[in-house]
Amino acid sequence: MTTDSNQDIPAHAAMNQFARRGQDLIVGGTTLEELAARAGRTPFFVYDTQLIEQRASALRAALPPTLHLHFAIKANPHPQVVNTLAQSTDGLDVASAAELRIALATGTPAASISFAGPGKSREDLELAVASGVIINVESETELARISSLGRATGVRPKIALRVNPDFELKSAGMKMGSGAKPFGIDAERVPVVLHSLPDAHVDFVGLHIFCGSQNLNADAICEAQVKTVDLAIALAGQTPLPLRWLNIGGGLGVPYFPGEQHLPLAPIARNLTHLVERCATELPRAQVVMELGRYLTAEAGLYVCEVIDRKESRGETFLVTNGGLHHHLAASGNFGQVIRKNYPLAVGNRMAEPATEIVNVVGPLCTPLDILGSRVALPHAEPGDLIVVYQSGAYACSASPHQFLSHPSPVELVV
Ligand SMILES: *Cc1c(COP(=O)(O)O)cnc(C)c1O
Repeated sequence: MTTDSNQDIPAHAAMNQFARRGQDLIVGGTTLEELAARAGRTPFFVYDTQLIEQRASALRAALPPTLHLHFAIKANPHPQVVNTLAQSTDGLDVASAAELRIALATGTPAASISFAGPGKSREDLELAVASGVIINVESETELARISSLGRATGVRPKIALRVNPDFELKSAGMKMGSGAKPFGIDAERVPVVLHSLPDAHVDFVGLHIFCGSQNLNADAICEAQVKTVDLAIALAGQTPLPLRWLNIGGGLGVPYFPGEQHLPLAPIARNLTHLVERCATELPRAQVVMELGRYLTAEAGLYVCEVIDRKESRGETFLVTNGGLHHHLAASGNFGQVIRKNYPLAVGNRMAEPATEIVNVVGPLCTPLDILGSRVALPHAEPGDLIVVYQSGAYACSASPHQFLSHPSPVELVV
């Protein structure tokens, strides 16, 4: 694998992950044309397992050794991606019965799998109880349903209480805790629930507190993790049952938009080292777990679509592709973003050419929301050229409305 020595500095930090050979972007040793041939068509997603493993081992090397690292598989539930991360993390977090089946198929022990999410169905709970995974309880009524299922089937379900914290994670792209939320039991109600546990026919393992996703501010993450551990220690003082498990959530962000930088791991690692030491003293039986989704897979994935048409409209150029929001809702700006910004884009078969044009990259759907790049600088591209969307390994393929307008679904390749 060779890289041009005189290539332009990429416009975005995320673009350094993948090599180039002449005009071609290289993934897993191959060109995108070769991958398109392997997929049989465009558009496709491609995930590089070597990059995923590198990310997991870099985290391992930075974080305190006693902290367990889990993969939240809703970020990327592709079975080969989950298999890769099952080998290089300590456990998996799932959010549906189907995700639980994917997790169990990796051979991960049930005690290292947790199941979170509001509105768990009867099927979800039956499978979770029967397989013996840790159920993160999202409400008092859900606890009652789990308890009666345990009684009916003669097992004591393993549960953790998910706590909706009374503090906020600053700078999070998506807040998952504080205020009124469908997630978890409000912190001020948790003592009452803890008192009810001895009669609930469940095996209480501990607490789960997750504040928010896509955070690039290390100070805000550290502050929230300190408050999470403070809250867990305070709540543990409300019950004679020992805390054996403390899940402090995920939420480490990756850079998507112009000007965003990679999250510095060192301050987070320093803070976590201090926190696991505190837990060793104050919650001596608790395994501390951090469950990450996006941070583990986002940067190892690309979405590749093909230019179908090139047209001008009132002074602007449009590259109309066969890919769009039906495959990649987040890149279109419609998955939680307040102001639409462009994901990093490239023309994957013209990597050595300078960006000489300002163009709009759009998809084939009959809606003005179907935008992959608004006024983005790219090399001159023609029909047949391949548009690459970086940072597409998390909350991309599986987080998109594939049926909208009934175009073909994207292919997913793993290299
Ligand atoms: C989605 C989710 C995660 C992962 O969040 P990231 O921001 O992708 O790290 C972790 N825990 C729970 C409960 C989740 O729902």
